[in-house]
Amino acid sequence: MSGGDVIVVGGGWAGLTAATRLVEAGATVTLLERSGNLGGRASSFRDADFGEWLDNGPHVFIGAYTAAMALLETWGAVDGLNFSDGDSIPFIYRGGREVRLKLTGGIGRIGAVAGLMSFRGMSVGDLLKTVRIVKNLLGMGDITPQHEPTVADFLSQYGVRQGDCGGFWDAVTVAVMNAPTGKAGLKPLLRAIKEGLLIGGRAARIGTPVEPFKQFYIDPASEYLTARTAAIRTGVQAKGLVVNGRDQIVGVETSGGRITSDKVILTVPPAGVLRLLPERHRQGEFFKRFENFEFSPITAVHISFDRPVLKRRFGFFPDSFTHWVFGRGEADGRGWSRVSTVTSHAPTRVEASNDDLVRWTLTDLKERLPAAEGAVVEHLRVVRTPTATVLLKPGSELIRPPASTPVKGLFLAGDWCGTGLPATIESAVRSAEEAVIRIFDK
Ligand SMILES: Cc1cc2nc3c(=O)[nH]c(=O)nc-3n(C[C@H](O)[C@H](O)[C@H](O)COP(=O)(O)OP(=O)(O)OC[C@H]3O[C@@H](n4cnc5c(N)ncnc54)[C@H](O)[C@@H]3O)c2cc1C
Repeated sequence: MSGGDVIVVGGGWAGLTAATRLVEAGATVTLLERSGNLGGRASSFRDADFGEWLDNGPHVFIGAYTAAMALLETWGAVDGLNFSDGDSIPFIYRGGREVRLKLTGGIGRIGAVAGLMSFRGMSVGDLLKTVRIVKNLLGMGDITPQHEPTVADFLSQYGVRQGDCGGFWDAVTVAVMNAPTGKAGLKPLLRAIKEGLLIGGRAARIGTPVEPFKQFYIDPASEYLTARTAAIRTGVQAKGLVVNGRDQIVGVETSGGRITSDKVILTVPPAGVLRLLPERHRQGEFFKRFENFEFSPITAVHISFDRPVLKRRFGFFPDSFTHWVFGRGEADGRGWSRVSTVTSHAPTRVEASNDDLVRWTLTDLKERLPAAEGAVVEHLRVVRTPTATVLLKPGSELIRPPASTPVKGLFLAGDWCGTGLPATIESAVRSAEEAVIRIFDK
């Protein structure tokens, strides 16, 4: 069945997914992206200093990202992900001690527990407690959003506080939820743990893109779309939605004039949706609740050293300002001299200057990667994303919207929408596929 002409606003993962699934279904798509580049919060920029493409921040993909993987297959880009080394996470402690957390001890609950049992990053007593918590989590039924605890409240039932169990729970929560245990709601974390760990095996593996996003997925996606029935218009901003008296969408006002269509998928963040709506809809119960979303920042620091400093493709730094370190591109000789770090739920500009961030990051690298001590920094770039993801607190599921809206022909997608998942690429992709399904609903 043909979807006719559809306007997709936003060219991040959700927008590119929607456009792809729509052209496959026979629709003609106009994709509007206000920036000069596609990719949104997972985009690349050319850095003159480094002489290379850099991403706004390194991203990890989990084997359980089934929808994102299928999409990468469609674009012919799936081979751009490297899953070698992805069976375990190297936890790197001060002094360079490395302990591996096995993710693929086998299939299902037994595999998850077996993998965890081999972890040497905490005492045997803490390990047994952690295994018991994981087992209980995996056996838990659904949590109603009205009764959702924070992760910290849930852990306190087991006597686990911040920093306990070798910082394991703090690490897992900030990595998956981009929020500390005291703020993150348990519901999306539970869903992620179940999808990743309960299935086990390949679903629990971690993959990282070898090339910057532009080469990895943005160019392939854009070639796929423009070879079919999609027109991609970058540098064109949606300015407002045109809705008629019967609450039917009839078009979008843009920086380049009005485009008419009776089907629009918005993949912009919640505040962007509110800005685009006519006043009478913005004040309605369905949309007004979007004002309640809060956000959490992520900071990335890209560094080129004069020598290899990192032996692994990626590593996790427990109990540290810096959370992850990734090698950029392929290793040169004895490891990676080009690295990128990530700090989730990072301090805002008011809390810390770029100089502070750089100082803390370099201290972490020198403390945990012995080869970084004495290495000379050749290039350095800080990228701050203040609204990196929505902060999913207890009860947030009540304000995350479904794809269909009270405005006929208007659909929503984006990582912040009501997928039940943490705000990730997989959430963005699944929400967009849901929006496309709704377009074809009678
Ligand atoms: C540094 C960082 C690290 C992350 N790490 C991970 C990770 O490891 N794994 C993971 O799964 N996720 C990670 N995430 C989250 C992931 O990037 C997001 O979940 C995903 O990119 C969201 O895609 P989206 O399409 O929903 O939104 P966006 O990428 O925000 O796309 C929205 C698009 O709409 C455009 N737009 C907005 N307003 C308008 C308008 N009026 N007109 C036209 N266009 C408009 C924007 O420019 C943007 O391109 C990370 C995020 C950041 C910032």
